[in-house]
Amino acid sequence: MKKTYNINEKGYYGEFGGAFIPEMLYPNVEELRQNYLKIMADPSFKAEFDQLLKDYVGRPSPLYFAKRLSEKYHTKIYLKREDLNHTGAHKINNTIGQIIMAKRLGKHRIIAETGAGQHGVATATVCALMGLKCVVYMGEIDIARQAPNVARMKMLGATVIPATSGSKTLKDATNEAIRDWISNPTDTHYIIGSVVGPHPYPDMVARFQSVISEEIQKQLLEQEGISKPNYIVACVGGGSNAAGAFYHFLNDTQVHLIAVEAAGKGIHSGESAATSALGNIGIIHGSKTLLMQTKDGQITEPYSISAGLDYPGVGPMHAHLYQTNRAQFLSVTDDEAMVAGLELCKLEGIIPAIESAHALAVFNKKTFSPEDIVVLSLSGRGDKDLETYMKHFEL
Ligand SMILES: *Cc1c(COP(=O)(O)O)cnc(C)c1O
Repeated sequence: MKKTYNINEKGYYGEFGGAFIPEMLYPNVEELRQNYLKIMADPSFKAEFDQLLKDYVGRPSPLYFAKRLSEKYHTKIYLKREDLNHTGAHKINNTIGQIIMAKRLGKHRIIAETGAGQHGVATATVCALMGLKCVVYMGEIDIARQAPNVARMKMLGATVIPATSGSKTLKDATNEAIRDWISNPTDTHYIIGSVVGPHPYPDMVARFQSVISEEIQKQLLEQEGISKPNYIVACVGGGSNAAGAFYHFLNDTQVHLIAVEAAGKGIHSGESAATSALGNIGIIHGSKTLLMQTKDGQITEPYSISAGLDYPGVGPMHAHLYQTNRAQFLSVTDDEAMVAGLELCKLEGIIPAIESAHALAVFNKKTFSPEDIVVLSLSGRGDKDLETYMKHFEL
């Protein structure tokens, strides 16, 4: 049998995935599992999704040949410009897909968890678009740290509820969202923001984000006369922009996949989010995957200068890509990412999100040949990160 890196019928990538959920959540997750593929296969679903991606999000996002960056690193670098999407990142691809899914399941109320607020904003945006009620759970500490995104969510009509338990950050917000879903099983859909959570979420989110690699194939064919690159590089928090950029190349081993994780202040500093390097097998947010944990299985609080990458786990697809060596995993420190981010500003006139800047740091870690075509997922724009850039470089 040919090896495949896609999900199997049981909801697993190799040994990773599944749905480890409290019994009271079973009906909600099961309803989604039984219907998501059917709904996505409906031509009218696809038509609505494609039209919103085009007219509302602004897709296809350009595949931009970065000439000056390519000259500097003696290879051919293309940037997939997810930063040009409405709301400034790839996250909107998923929330558009899930809001249409929610409507077709007859749901009237949306809940979400958010860390830095980026997924909360993307969710509040599509709820406003569709006129659905939106409740976003966010750790109390994150609310204080991310005031502009809290303001955005409120302007978009969402209710932001602080999670006050535990460390008052993302994992506590996730716990609150799950509690809400258990109490509101019939009218509520939970929009998860990455390729994490119980099956079918990782697969559903990967499929919505797969528009990224679908476009890369077409655009490369037009621009290079070949539909696949030698390398695809993407940063990994939970793993959704990487999953989308890898998706149509997963089973083509001529295409090398590179996943970049946040090493924070250094892998061994105790302050990092390099899940594959530091993690081991466990269960987080309803799926079996790699996560950073103590010897007794307590989840370690992650750290990265980029709020979008400080997640203590990684989605099950990526755990499998790591374990099978299908993808190469690199880790990049705060400092390395910041330097790479500023370099893109100076060389190409593009201010990247600090998450995406982690992927850009690959060019200082690895040498590519002049004939190689390297496609890099520029997952988001850096407007939200100006303050962090200014502080870091004393601008
Ligand atoms: C949220 C975010 C990420 C990390 O999430 P993934 O699910 O790993 O893609 C990366 N880049 C940007 C700009 C983000 O907002």
